[in-house]
Amino acid sequence: MRLLLCTDLDRTLLPNGPQPESAAAREGFSRLVSQPGVVLVFVTGRDKARVQQAITNYQLPDPDYVIADVGSSLYRLDNSEWHHVLQWDEMIGQDWQGKSRADLQDLFLGLDGLRLQELSKQNTHKLSYYVPLYTDHHKLMEKMKDRLQHTNIQASFIWSVDELANTGLLDILPASAGKRHAIEFLMRQLDFSQQQTVFAGDSGNDIAVMASPVQSVLVANATDDVRQQVMQHAKLNHQLETVYIARGDFFGMNGNYSAGILEGVAHYMPEAVGWLNPGDHE
Ligand SMILES: [Mg+2]
Repeated sequence: MRLLLCTDLDRTLLPNGPQPESAAAREGFSRLVSQPGVVLVFVTGRDKARVQQAITNYQLPDPDYVIADVGSSLYRLDNSEWHHVLQWDEMIGQDWQGKSRADLQDLFLGLDGLRLQELSKQNTHKLSYYVPLYTDHHKLMEKMKDRLQHTNIQASFIWSVDELANTGLLDILPASAGKRHAIEFLMRQLDFSQQQTVFAGDSGNDIAVMASPVQSVLVANATDDVRQQVMQHAKLNHQLETVYIARGDFFGMNGNYSAGILEGVAHYMPEAVGWLNPGDHE
């Protein structure tokens, strides 16, 4: 059996939300990804340093690949050594005509509601702002798109909400970057089919993946608002068959975080259940 298991980190694999984590879940996750044939991919808004922090703090297994910075950078890991996948940078860089984040930033000067995120959260192909939740972010994004109109820059705008910090996050990426495209890039590169790929997430920048043909699972700790958006977008795109909403009660676990990931894998790949029973390990 082959499985390309792609998972978001914060509040998906990492139990750093208000809901409880089932005791055996993360251990079950580690056991699943240690099976031969499983390729593990972290798909996150975090940068490399903050992914490394998460791996240490939460005792996560080393992934094989990391799609970082909301899909604007890609790393391959080899014995815990990180290698930047330059082919990905080259590919997405074409959308920005060789321009970088700093060049784009100048185009958006003077727009109300945009506050630049820390330098550590920016990179060559990721421009990130904080936006107060009272700002009409749809209108703001329209204004930003207007400013790109007479350039040749193809960008995508990714909106999400940091529930804990109570702020909006706006990422501007090359149009062909983003979590979904990066996952599809890996599927092609590593020759994994749709049936051999599962993605798990919980919020904003995960929704585009869940509304795509990539087999996806929404963990049970997602908010009602996200659950509704996922269902709406998936329905609109006729992708309801490739969305699974974790509900808990899988081997007595609650469906939150990694328990939801395991439940989703079992849904799409019943043949993997033997690896997933948290009580059954010899
Ligand atoms: Mg998340």
